[in-house]
Amino acid sequence: MADSATINQKTLLGHPVGLYILFLTEMWERFSFYGMKALLIFYLVKYHLFSDDAGNLLVGSYAALVYAIPVVGGYLADRYLGFRKAVTFGGILLVLGHMGMAYEGNEATQMANGVIERDDAALQVFYFSLSLIIMGVGFLKANISSIVGELYKKGDKRRDSGFTIFYMGINLGSALATIICSWLGETYGWSYGFGAAGFGMLLGLVTFVYGKKYFYGKAEPKDIGLLQKKSFLGLSNEITIYVLAVIGTVVVWQMVQSHSVVEILLMLAGAASLIYIVWYAFSKATKKERDRLFALTILILFSVIFWALFEQAYTSLNLFADRALDRESSLFGEIAAGAFLSLNAIFIILLAPVFAWLWIKLDKRNMNPNAAIKFSIGILLVGLGFGALVLGGEVSGAGKVAMIWLVLAYFLHTCGELCLSPVGLSYVTKLSPGKIVGFMMGVWFLATAGSEYIASLLANLASIDTSGGQATDLAVAKASYLDLFETLFYTGLIFGIILLILSPFVKRMMHGIDSENIDEDEILIEEKH
Ligand code: GLN
Repeated sequence: MADSATINQKTLLGHPVGLYILFLTEMWERFSFYGMKALLIFYLVKYHLFSDDAGNLLVGSYAALVYAIPVVGGYLADRYLGFRKAVTFGGILLVLGHMGMAYEGNEATQMANGVIERDDAALQVFYFSLSLIIMGVGFLKANISSIVGELYKKGDKRRDSGFTIFYMGINLGSALATIICSWLGETYGWSYGFGAAGFGMLLGLVTFVYGKKYFYGKAEPKDIGLLQKKSFLGLSNEITIYVLAVIGTVVVWQMVQSHSVVEILLMLAGAASLIYIVWYAFSKATKKERDRLFALTILILFSVIFWALFEQAYTSLNLFADRALDRESSLFGEIAAGAFLSLNAIFIILLAPVFAWLWIKLDKRNMNPNAAIKFSIGILLVGLGFGALVLGGEVSGAGKVAMIWLVLAYFLHTCGELCLSPVGLSYVTKLSPGKIVGFMMGVWFLATAGSEYIASLLANLASIDTSGGQATDLAVAKASYLDLFETLFYTGLIFGIILLILSPFVKRMMHGIDSENIDEDEILIEEKH
């Protein structure tokens, strides 16, 4: 491993060059991920003629699994693979998965007697492709975020802004993808949209492999000996992990088709992670480390509420845009419903620098709110976003809702996201003990996994009967979406206030990490470990 003098040697705009490699890799990975996700619900209800309920639940199970497996990916990287190998392996699985998505088979048809005939073989290819993507993200997502943290030393003030830049990469990918893939998919055919996503991932993988020298050995396995040791299969531990991951893909292939199994898995994974955290806190951690780990766990638990509301974007908000929003514009003609999703990403790109600047400004005046307050503001804002839609619904009378309200909702959701998501990533790398950063990053995404599933159950509250995915009665569609949005508005307000009340306690448990006022001794001690 390189010594600390050579680390961070090359910088660009004040940050290590490695950050930009990670930025580009994650940009392409998210391009493929969000491009495909934006098309998914429409592909299911319009092409394979799934009901709203079945479509939402499949999106929910897929998204839940995609964010649950990173716990395992994070753990394996901490203990065996190191972050770089894990990301590369995940990238390969992702390229294969997205390529598989480009095969669409025959369109489903509805017979005169109402029975729907689907191309079952094509659906199996589709489920298998989903499972490759799930495993791929499992190895990549948490670990690439952990590498960002590795580029900065403890107490380095650039860490938060490094994460904000990284977060812009995520959203640049997402903005481009939701526009390009939605348009290609709905205009030229699904396989073009999905294919474009796959091509993006290939570019991401190439970038990462090419740029690995800029991590200066910081993302390598901690114990090469352990990695080469023979496992129970008679192969090295490294190869064993890859073999098991491929077998895991077959298991996930079956799981993604069964929502109740996903539900049980989420509960088990959540419980097991909590038990592990408590065990680690009491048997391996110092008092300070323990408090910090628990503070992080509280933040992660509240993030579940945020994402459950926020992730309506890919189900109920997406269908609402399709069915109850006036999407005619003088400039672009009729805007594709999925394209509205890009608003979130576009707002991030515009607002992330503003927020980064704001935190620094407030910090200088000693007014930078602690992470718990930022999280509570995030939850309040996502609630207010739904409030805007309810208001928009009320002023629209019997007609479709004007676009501006959805724009406003995404604006508020995005401000909320910026208070919570990049802040959360950064705090995971700051608050968790060094040995379990990868695992805790996985737990951060596991919280999203739970929320994705809860989000799809919430979205189902607003499911309506459609014909071939089209809503026939506007009044019914509008009323059911607006009811749901009102409930979500109150949910955001209530949980936001609860966290605000808890925030002074959480701050105390962070022992100064919050303000980065860690004393030099502590840094030296931690670096020796
Ligand atoms: N939009 C962010 C990303 O894709 C956050 C995802 C999440 O944690 N739910 O990385």
